[in-house]
This record gives sequence, structure tokens and C-alpha cells, in this order.
Amino acid sequence: MEVIRARLAGFCMGVGLALKRLDTLLEDGESRPTFMLGPIIHNPQVLERYAARGVGLAKGAECLPPGSRVVIRAHGIPRLEEQALQARGVEVVDATCPKVKRAQLLIQAEAKAGKTLLLFGEDDHPEVRGLLSYAGDDAFVFETREELARHQLEPSREYFLAAQTTQDRQGFQLLQEDLTTRLPAPVTVLETICDATRLRQDEAIRLAGECDCVIVAGGKASGNTRRLSQVIEAVGTPTVLIETVDDLNPNALLKYKRMGLTAGASTPKSIIDEIEAFLRAI
Ligand code: SF4
Repeated sequence: MEVIRARLAGFCMGVGLALKRLDTLLEDGESRPTFMLGPIIHNPQVLERYAARGVGLAKGAECLPPGSRVVIRAHGIPRLEEQALQARGVEVVDATCPKVKRAQLLIQAEAKAGKTLLLFGEDDHPEVRGLLSYAGDDAFVFETREELARHQLEPSREYFLAAQTTQDRQGFQLLQEDLTTRLPAPVTVLETICDATRLRQDEAIRLAGECDCVIVAGGKASGNTRRLSQVIEAVGTPTVLIETVDDLNPNALLKYKRMGLTAGASTPKSIIDEIEAFLRAI
């Protein structure tokens, strides 16, 4: 089987930086308990490795012993949660991705100017909850064009449009066009979609055009991993989403001659290497 591996498969800048912060903490020789606030990345294999090194997983500030230290993951957290951590007397190590931080601050500035946020994202996603906390009370979150179409807009209000960093750029462009036809005044658009996501998606689409099937490696809870599968499916190419090489059924792949391989932004290189070697051996 011929295997074409995406050049950009694996960790993005934000995930890489967050893990580096945590690794540095673990190597500094301090014996204080160290926690991550929610899983630091959506990859069960990486999380198991940190658990084995004694890193705890806390759901909220109330779970943290005073004097411990806690790492805020790349997705960021809501403002109230940040205040609760500070009040708890723990050391906060902020590993929010610089691009997510930038999105939070841009949203805050527009909301302060009196505009209402329309946010293209998954409302139960931690990054989205964090972004919303910078937007004031009236923000509207939606996942599809249809949902936005059903949402009542008030012509007298000023709106601004932003997206969860991992959203699809083409979909975002269509939303902008829809809003232009629905509202009398131009809508402020914040460019918050991350290039890491777009470039991975573009490469996945290219792979889908060149291959009979594309394997996407990544945590099943990872939004950007799932979206890679979706853009491949949209091209009409079969795709298989797996977490590790153990999820692959070689018999089901025998019919393919040329296989693409890509991975979400929270998938370690070691997992991708293993899958590539497995595919090449078929
Ligand atoms: S996908 Fe982009 S915004 Fe999200 S953590 Fe990675 S670099 Fe940051």
C-alpha cells in the first residue's frame, strides 16, 4: 500500500507550548502537587502518560488543594473560573494558546464597545465557554448556517461575528455573506480562525483528492480531529478516524491502493509514526 502522510499532521503551536509548560513544571524539582484544569489536550494516550507522572486532573477550582499549582490548557478558561482559581490560593500557570488569548481579547474589546457577539462554535466546548465569558450577556452561539438563519436578529443592534479557533473557514465566509444580506449595517468580523486548523484542513482535502481513503488519527473528543474527517468526507473520499494503531482493521483496508494519513492538532508524533509504519506494512 502506498502511504501519503500529511506534512502538518500532529501538534499545533498551542498544544506544543502547553505541553512544554507542563513538562517544564514537572522537571523543576518542586514537590508541590500539580494539576491540569480539565484534560490539557484531547488525547487519552498523552493524558495517561501525565497521570503516570503524578499530574492530577481537576474539574474546577474547588477540587484544588491550596498551595498546589494548576495549568490552564490551550483552550483557555472562562474569566470567572480564573478568578476562582486566584481566590483559591493556587499558583496558576496559564498555558492558554496565544491565538485563543487573542480571540478572547478581541471579543472583549468589541463587547465593551456595545456590540453583540454571534459566535460560530460548539456551545459545549471549553474554548467556546471561555470566549463567551468575554462577550457580555447577549451572545449567541451556533454551529450551523441554519441555526443562525433561525436566530432573530434585531436591525437596531450592532453585531460582531467571531468563530471558535478550530472552525471551518469556508463555512465562516458563508455566514458573513448571510449576515450582510440580513442586516442593514456592516457586521464587524473578527478573524479568529487559526491557520493551523485551516492549513491542516486544506492539506486533508488535497490528500482526499489524491488517495482512495484517508486515515485521521486523533482523540475522539478532539473537535479539530473530527472536523478533519468531515472535510475529507465532504470531498467524497472514505475516511477512518482512529485514536491509535490498535483501532485499525487491516482487512478492511486491503481494497485501497493509496492511503492518506493525517492527524489532529493534539496527536503526538509517536502515534502517527506507528500508524504510518503499520499502513506501510500492509
Ligand atoms: S489549533 Fe490554533 S488556536 Fe487552537 S491551540 Fe492550536 S495553535 Fe492554538
